[in-house]
Amino acid sequence: MSPARRSPRRLALLGATGSIGRQVCDLVERNPERFRLHALIAGHDQAALDAAGRRHPGAHRLLAHPAVAEAVQDPDVDLVIVAAMGAAALAPTLAALEAGKDVAIATKEVLVMAGELVRERMRRHGTRLLPIDSEHSAIWQCLWGEQRESIGRLILTGSGGPFLRRPVDSLAAATVEEALAHPRWKMGPKITIDSATMMNKGLEIIEAHFLFDVEYDRIQVLVHPQSVVHSMVEFRDGSVKAQLGIPDMHLPIAVALSYPERIEAVVAPPDLAAIGRLDFEALDPGRFPAVALARDAGRRGGTATAVLNAANEEAVALFLEGRIGFNRVVGLVEAALSSMPGFGGHALEEVLSADAWARRHVRELASADRRASAGKLPA
Ligand code: MG
Repeated sequence: MSPARRSPRRLALLGATGSIGRQVCDLVERNPERFRLHALIAGHDQAALDAAGRRHPGAHRLLAHPAVAEAVQDPDVDLVIVAAMGAAALAPTLAALEAGKDVAIATKEVLVMAGELVRERMRRHGTRLLPIDSEHSAIWQCLWGEQRESIGRLILTGSGGPFLRRPVDSLAAATVEEALAHPRWKMGPKITIDSATMMNKGLEIIEAHFLFDVEYDRIQVLVHPQSVVHSMVEFRDGSVKAQLGIPDMHLPIAVALSYPERIEAVVAPPDLAAIGRLDFEALDPGRFPAVALARDAGRRGGTATAVLNAANEEAVALFLEGRIGFNRVVGLVEAALSSMPGFGGHALEEVLSADAWARRHVRELASADRRASAGKLPA
C-alpha cells in the first residue's frame, strides 16, 4: 500500500552550507515527493550557498540578510530547520516560533542560551520544537506514546570523544588536530571540540531540560564508546527504552522532518552481530569537568547558561585559532561563570547582554594569559 499522496512539506533551512544543512539537502533530493526547499539561508559562504541553490533551483537564497526573519515567517513555509552555528540562530528561531512555525532544531546553543524564552514563545504561539540532535531525537522517540509523569530519568549517551583514554595530565598539550579527530561522528569543528571536552554533553543536559521539561537531577550522562545507543529513557516502573542506530545524522534529521511518518531506508540498520558488544561506563568528572559545570549553570538558571554558552563559543574559537591550550577552553568558561556580575532573568536583552559580556570577558582573560606568558623569562 502506498502512502496517501499529499503535497511536499515546504522547508526553510537556516545553516544550509554547514554539515547538518548539507545532509538536509541530501534528504530533500532523495525524497522530492515529501520535501521541497523553499529557502536556503547561510551565514557567509556565498559559493557553497550558490552550489546548494543550483541543486534546488526553486529555493530562495539568502546570505546573512536582514530578511532572514521574513524568510522563516513566510506563509509558504511549513517547517523551519535551524542548523546555523551557535548564538546567531537565536533570533531567527524566535521569529519562526512567533509566526506559528514548528522548528526542527539542530542548534542546541539556542536552547542553552535562551531556553526559557524559547519555551515561553512556544507556549504563547502553540508551536513545537522537533529535536535533530541525535541524543534528543533518541529520547523523543523513546517518549512517543508515553506520559510525561512516567519518566524517571533521561540518560544521555556520549562516546567520550578522542580523549577518553588519554592520560589526563597530557590533555593540556593536546593539539587542535588531535581534538578534531573524533572517533565516531563526522561533524563541524565547533561541536567536535565540544565533544573532546565533553562540553557537548553538558550543553545537551541543558538542551534536554528545556526540550523535555525534566529537572537537572534526573538527566544523567553515560559514556558509550560505540555510539550505537543514541540515548535512553528510564521509566518510573524500572523499564528502560533505548533508541539504536548507526552514527549518521541523516537518521535524526529524517525523523524530525517527516514526523510522525518514517521515511523508507534512510540508513542501514545497525548490524548488532557484527558490532558484537555495547559498552557503557560512568563519566569521569575529573577528566571531563565541563559536564558538572554545565549542569551547575543550568541549576542556577537565569542567564548563567547564556554565559556558559557564549564563554564556550569564544574559548573554542580561541583554541581553534591556536591561541589557548586545550585545558584552558573549559578553564575560561569556569572563570567566566565564577566572575559573572549577576544572574538576571531571561528576557532577550538580558540574554544578549550576558552573551556579550561573556565573550568580552573570555577574550580579555585570554589576552591576560598571553601577556603573562610573554612576560616570563626563558628557563
Ligand atoms: Mg548530540
